[in-house]
Amino acid sequence: MSNNTQITVAHGDGIGPEIMAETLKILEAAGARLDIETIEIGEKVYLRGHSSGIEEASWDSLHKTKVFLKAPITTPSGGGFKSLNVTVRKTLGLFANVRPCVAYHPFVKTNFPGMDLVIVRENEEDLYAGIEYRHTPDVYECLKILTRPGSERIARYAFEYARANGRKKVTCMIKDNIMKMTDGMFYAVFEEVGAYYPEIARDRMIIDIGAARIATHPNDFDVILAPNLYGDIISDIAADVTGSVGLGGSSNIGLGGAMFEAIHGSAPDIAGKGIANPSGLLLGAVMMLVHIGQGDVAMKIHNAWLKTLEDGIHTGDIYREGQSKQRVGTTGFGDAVIDRLGQMPSTMKAITYPTGENTAIKIPELSPQKPVKQEMAGIDIFVQSYETPDILAEKILKLNLPLELQAITNRGATVWPHGDPATYCVDHYRLRFKRDKEGGKTITLTDSMAVQYKIAEAGFLIAKTENLFLFDGKRGYTVGQGQ
Ligand code: NAD
Repeated sequence: MSNNTQITVAHGDGIGPEIMAETLKILEAAGARLDIETIEIGEKVYLRGHSSGIEEASWDSLHKTKVFLKAPITTPSGGGFKSLNVTVRKTLGLFANVRPCVAYHPFVKTNFPGMDLVIVRENEEDLYAGIEYRHTPDVYECLKILTRPGSERIARYAFEYARANGRKKVTCMIKDNIMKMTDGMFYAVFEEVGAYYPEIARDRMIIDIGAARIATHPNDFDVILAPNLYGDIISDIAADVTGSVGLGGSSNIGLGGAMFEAIHGSAPDIAGKGIANPSGLLLGAVMMLVHIGQGDVAMKIHNAWLKTLEDGIHTGDIYREGQSKQRVGTTGFGDAVIDRLGQMPSTMKAITYPTGENTAIKIPELSPQKPVKQEMAGIDIFVQSYETPDILAEKILKLNLPLELQAITNRGATVWPHGDPATYCVDHYRLRFKRDKEGGKTITLTDSMAVQYKIAEAGFLIAKTENLFLFDGKRGYTVGQGQ
C-alpha cells in the first residue's frame, strides 16, 4: 500500500487553474507524498444549476479524503447562489479558520517589518449562523448564536496551535462590555481553557480598539482569537497591513476534515494572462502538508519560497523597481521556487515545522459540564404596536393577565414604567412578564401560553416570544437598558 496521503483538489475559476497548476508542480518537485483526486467546483457548476457551486459526487471525495486543497472560485453575480465556502465549512464542520499574517520586509513593502501574527477565527457560529427574521414592517433581526462547545473548541484550537508553533501569547478579541452574555461567555471560556496552557500568556482586548491596534501596532500581537464576525474583519485588516494580501494562505480545520486555500479571490481581471502570483495558494498547501504530517516537505517548500522572495524574483503584484531583481510570471515564479528547493533564506528567518506522522493539531475532549437547574422565570412577548408606551401599557394592564407586566422596552431601551419621552420608538415593543421576584415561583409554559392567547385575542400581532430562564438561579437574560 502506498504511504501517500489522499487529498481532493479543485482548480477553481479565474486565475485558479493557473496558480493550482504551479502549486501542484512545486508540491511534486518537493516530494510531497500525495494521491490527488480532482473535483470541479465554482462557476461552471453554479451555472449548471447547482446553487451551492458543488455537485453531490464531489462530496464523496471530500468525505473520503477529508483534506481539500481549493483554488479560488468566482461566485456568479445575481441572487440565488450560495457561498461555496460557507457550504463546505458547514458541511464538513470546519470550525477553525487560521490565517497567518506575516510581513516579508524588505522584500515586500510594509510599514511594519517584523509583523508575524496568526488569527484564529471561529468559523461556524455567531451572526454567520444565517438565522434572520423580519418581525414587523420596521424591524429586522439577525441572531448572534455563540455556544459553549463551539467557544471551547475554538479556544482549545487557538492554544493548541500556539503550543505547536512556539507562539507565546493568545489575545482574545470580544465586545463583552456590550454583549455581556454571548461575548462574555466566549471570553470566560477563553480564560478557563487558557489556564491549561500556563506557558502561553493570555490577553484580552475589546474588538474596536483591538482592530485599531492591529492596524497601527501589529507587532504587539502573536495569536489572536475571535468569534466569527470580528475575526472576519480583523483577518482582512491584518492581511492588508502585511502589505501583501496576495501572499496569504489560510486553513479551515474541523473534526471531519480540513480545507486549505489562498485568501484572495479568482482575480478575473488578470485570469489567463499568466501573471498571477501563486504564493497564497502555495502557502495554503504548505499548511496542508503540516496538517497531514509532511512537515519535512512543508519546510522545504516554505524556505525555498522565502529564498525566492529574497532573491528578488517577483510577480508583478509585488514587483518594485530597485528592490526586485526579476519580474516573472506565474510559471517563472514556480520554476524559481523549484530551483531553490533545499535552500534556506539568508535574511528572513527560516521556517521550521514539526515533522513526523501526527503533526495535525488535536483538540482535547471538551470539558464535562455540571448539570444545571433550568427554570422559567418569565416571558418576553414582542408585539407590533404604533401606540405610545403608556397607552400600550394601559391596554395590556386592562387585560388582567395571569403574569405581571414588569417592563416595556423598545429596541432594548426601557420605555415603561418611567420611560423618557425622548426615546425614539419603532413598531416593535417588548413586553416583559414575570410573576414575582427572581427565584420565586416557577412559571410554566401554560402560564405563558395563557398570556399570549389573551394578548392575541385583544388584537395585537405577536411578532415573537422569548422565554426567560434562570440557570441555577442565575439570570439567563439581560435586563432592559435603563431598567
Ligand atoms: P480578488 O482577490 O480576486 O482580486 C482583488 C485584486 O487583487 C484584483 O485586482 C486581482 O487582480 C488581485 N489579485 C488577487 N489575487 C492575485 C494574485 N494571486 N496575484 C496577483 N494579483 C492578484 O477579489 P475580487 O476581485 O473582489 O473577487 C473576484 C472573485 O473572486 C469574485 O467572484 C469573488 O466572489 C471571488 N472570491 C473567491 C474567494 C474564494 O474562492 N475563497 C475569495 C474571495 C473572493
